Amino acid sequence: MTQSNARTVHEGLAREVAAATRILVAEKILDYSGHVSTRLPGGGFLIQTGLDSRADLRPDRLLVVDYEGKVLEGEGNPPAELALHVEMFRARPDIQSILHCHMDLAIAFTMMKGVQLKPMRARAVRWESGIPTHPDPSHIKHTEQAASLARTLGPHNAVLMRAHGLTLVAESVPALLVDAIHFQENALALMQVLQAGAEPLPLTQDEIDQVNRHEMREFHIGKLWSYYLGRAVNAGIVPAAWAGN
Ligand SMILES: [Zn+2]
Repeated sequence: MTQSNARTVHEGLAREVAAATRILVAEKILDYSGHVSTRLPGGGFLIQTGLDSRADLRPDRLLVVDYEGKVLEGEGNPPAELALHVEMFRARPDIQSILHCHMDLAIAFTMMKGVQLKPMRARAVRWESGIPTHPDPSHIKHTEQAASLARTLGPHNAVLMRAHGLTLVAESVPALLVDAIHFQENALALMQVLQAGAEPLPLTQDEIDQVNRHEMREFHIGKLWSYYLGRAVNAGIVPAAWAGN
C-alpha cells in the first residue's frame, strides 16, 4: 500500500468510527462514555479521546494507538479504559473492531439471578456460542484486568461486564454497529418476555442452525449500515460528505 493509499484508508476508517459513534449515541447505546475502535491496516488502531463528546465526534480527532497502548498520532488522552481495547486486539487477531459501552439492557442481565441472556431473536444467532459475564465490576483501566476480560470473552463475540457494561467484537465498524443494534433488540426481547411474566423460550439449536443456513451477514450489514447512515445524514447527525465512501 502506498503512503497516500494508506492515508485514504485511514481517513475512511476514521469517518466510519465517527459516524458509528454518533449513530450509537442516537440509538442510546453510547452516551457520555464508551468507545469504538478499529485496526488500521498499516499498524495500530483508531480510538477517540476520553473527553471528546460521542454525540459529535470528528474523524480528525481520533487517536492512533499501538498495541502497547502508546499514542502514536493525535491530540488529547485516550479513554481511561484504553487497556480493554489493547488487550482484546492482542488476544483476538481475527477481529477488526471493538465497541465498549454501558448499554442499560445489557447491564440489567448481569444483575439477575438465574436468568441468562441468550439468542431470542433470529439475528441474535451471532451470539450462539454464548454471552459470558465477566465478574469484575470496576472500570477496566489496567492491563491485568483487561487481559482477564479478554480471557472471559474467549472465542465469543460479546462479553457482559458485571454491573458495568458490554463489549462487542466484529470484523468491521459497520458490522459492529449492526451487532450493537441487534444485541440491544435481543436483550429487549428477553426483557419483554420476563416483564410479561412468561417463561422465556430462547432459540433452540435446530432453530439456530435453520437461521444460519439462510444467513447473508455481509449483505445484511451493508443494508443496515446504509439505512442507519442515511437516516443519520437526513437527521443532521452525520455530515452528508461522510456517506460518500
Ligand atoms: Zn466502561
